[in-house]
Amino acid sequence: MSKPSPEVYEAGRGMDAHNSVMREIRARNDRTYDPREPTRVWLDEDNTPDGVRESLTIILNTGGCRWARAGGCTMCGYVAESVDGGTVPHDALMTQIEACLDHEREHAEKPAPLIKIYTSGSFLDEREVPAATRREIADTFADRERIVVESLPDFVARERLTDFTDMGLETDVAIGLETATDRVRHDCVNKYFDFEEFVAASGVAGDVGAGIKAYLLLKPAFLTEREAITDMKSSIRRCAEHAHTVSMNPCNVQRHTMVEELYFDSGYRPPWLWSVAETLEDTTEAPAIVVSDPVGHGSDRGPHNCGECNDRVQKAIKDFDLRQDPTVFEQVACECEYTWEEVLRRETSYNQPLAR
Ligand code: SF4
Ligand SMILES: [Zn+2]
Repeated sequence: MSKPSPEVYEAGRGMDAHNSVMREIRARNDRTYDPREPTRVWLDEDNTPDGVRESLTIILNTGGCRWARAGGCTMCGYVAESVDGGTVPHDALMTQIEACLDHEREHAEKPAPLIKIYTSGSFLDEREVPAATRREIADTFADRERIVVESLPDFVARERLTDFTDMGLETDVAIGLETATDRVRHDCVNKYFDFEEFVAASGVAGDVGAGIKAYLLLKPAFLTEREAITDMKSSIRRCAEHAHTVSMNPCNVQRHTMVEELYFDSGYRPPWLWSVAETLEDTTEAPAIVVSDPVGHGSDRGPHNCGECNDRVQKAIKDFDLRQDPTVFEQVACECEYTWEEVLRRETSYNQPLAR
């Protein structure tokens, strides 16, 4: 099921231009990171199929994503945070996990039932996280209720998931699908796989009793605000057939990315928070939990409205995440909604962004 692989795609099926630009942009990054420290760790709460749960989110610092080495996705700056040289050994990865457990002991009253592990790549890629490390991590969290691990569809394999399901853990794979539209995923995001592969990975997970959490990207480079909303609404509906949870990430401008280049050349504006609200409101009937966590909301580089209403709309979105009740959006209004509506009406691919 691993076709096309990142290597095959790059050599024979296009995207060379995107990849060579992305490699050049990433090469400007000269920061290095300690392989014994996690990239980030934090406590939060999340909506799961079994209800809202306290969560511990871990961003493990692995060797980084294989696809990013070829060039990678136009909005993804995570690879800039990965360790140089490709792999992080078992002991260093387990030291990172220990540091995360220390953080939890220090800041939480009791262990979180939900563990989420992201890697700036694929946790299930054994080049990033060796099988022995994966098993030890499964063992470490065996007493929790649910675990979410991030992976591209290529690496979703039965025996990699049973390491967790055999422990009695509810297990989810978080897949960065970005959009259900192959053309947009390939040409705007520069991600190599097809929707069909996501569907196949969902089948593999389902066979061992694991679930899928799909991550979608609202407003990749080159789409207008209206195109982005239309693409997101149809993506949520298509994804909800194969994932119990859909997490919509409004794009933010990360360092060392093509999106950042466009942003500095007046060619990109992150999505409006009104677009997030409109999409969530419109897709409530989709048969999945649909959530959104607008990272960097209110800042120029993150999803934002006018500056007056950002916090209020963000709060409504967070309320929606936990309650799935679209009436939360009736409580927020602001004059900038008129500007946003004009943008939807008048913005085209050659005049975007129409407003900052
Ligand atoms: S978004 Fe995912 S697949 Fe794309 S470059 Fe970043 S880590 Fe790799
Ligand atoms: Zn406003």
